[in-house]
Amino acid sequence: MGRTFRIYLAGESVFTCKQCGNHLAVGESVLSKQFTGQHGRALLVHHAVNVYCGEAEEREMRTGKHTVRDVFCRVCHTCLGWKYDFAFEPEQKYKEGRFILEREMISERPEGKMPAAGM
Ligand SMILES: [Zn+2]
Repeated sequence: MGRTFRIYLAGESVFTCKQCGNHLAVGESVLSKQFTGQHGRALLVHHAVNVYCGEAEEREMRTGKHTVRDVFCRVCHTCLGWKYDFAFEPEQKYKEGRFILEREMISERPEGKMPAAGM
């Protein structure tokens, strides 16, 4: 496709790179917040933008063998998590093409919404 410009997201909340503020995913694309990454809590998201992937490699995980790629911020090159290319276990197939973003590496930002009064 050759699109090199950055994509700016708008949603109820936006996940950004903690290092540089690069937009990565919208709150609506989160499939699960129950994942565990290398640094603790992690999110499974439908799609991430403004990132690039490393080499595919097979990794033995708690949920079985997967082919994954490390995912990096396209602006500051921080490793943010990984992408599932292929799941060997049939019940893990839903993860294929999905992204893991490490909580430790990202910030969540409410977008276009003021905090409720009286909180
Ligand atoms: Zn970044």
